[in-house]
Amino acid sequence: MVRVGLAMLQGARHEHVQALTAASKQLGVDIEIVELRTGSQVDDRLDCLVLPGGESTAMRKASQSESLLSALFSWMEEHPQRPVLGTCAGAIILATPGGSNRSLLRAEISRNAWGRQRDSFEAGVALSFETPAGGDFSPNKAPRDQFNHQPLPVGEMAQSEHEELFPGVFIRAPRFVQSSVGCTPVAFLGDEIVGVLDGQRLALTFHPELTNDYRFHRWLIHQSFLTN
Ligand code: GLN
Repeated sequence: MVRVGLAMLQGARHEHVQALTAASKQLGVDIEIVELRTGSQVDDRLDCLVLPGGESTAMRKASQSESLLSALFSWMEEHPQRPVLGTCAGAIILATPGGSNRSLLRAEISRNAWGRQRDSFEAGVALSFETPAGGDFSPNKAPRDQFNHQPLPVGEMAQSEHEELFPGVFIRAPRFVQSSVGCTPVAFLGDEIVGVLDGQRLALTFHPELTNDYRFHRWLIHQSFLTN
């Protein structure tokens, strides 16, 4: 059993629940999703963490009264070997945790660097990242969720799935300052790095939870399974 902590800060949380559930079925690994709302819920028993997308400024404000972010940062510092997935605003939070000597990710990020909401886009993202294969659970049948998001269609999962482009959904997305990336680039939009891995911390500027391609969620669960 893998216990996944999901920061319920604001933004695309419920889609992560759906993606994690599908990924756990694909892997045949049982998970428990722990919805984190207060700092006191962040404990040693969490095997991994998801920091969802949304609006990072709102997240920081929402967190203040319950000290959630500061507890998450401390948890990450205490358990550097436990996997973390930060998507979009979650990647911003990882790259800029605040506090003078805190550093959780060796990459700088620039908010809203693609432009405004209307400049949001979808594009194929190339991965240089091995993800565990899924089983025969068919994600293509995924229905619209309660927020009316239709997961993007992706092809049948193949042996060589990791060579397939990932359906990248960029919503008022940040950009990594390319020259600042001091960890492993794992996802590319053309020549641009849009995903990085620093140890066990994975930061993506796009939203994998809004697709039915669960490679990153499988990675998170699989890594947690290996390390716990
Ligand atoms: N633009 C948002 C921010 O700066 C991030 C957008 C997102 O997570 N989709 O926090």
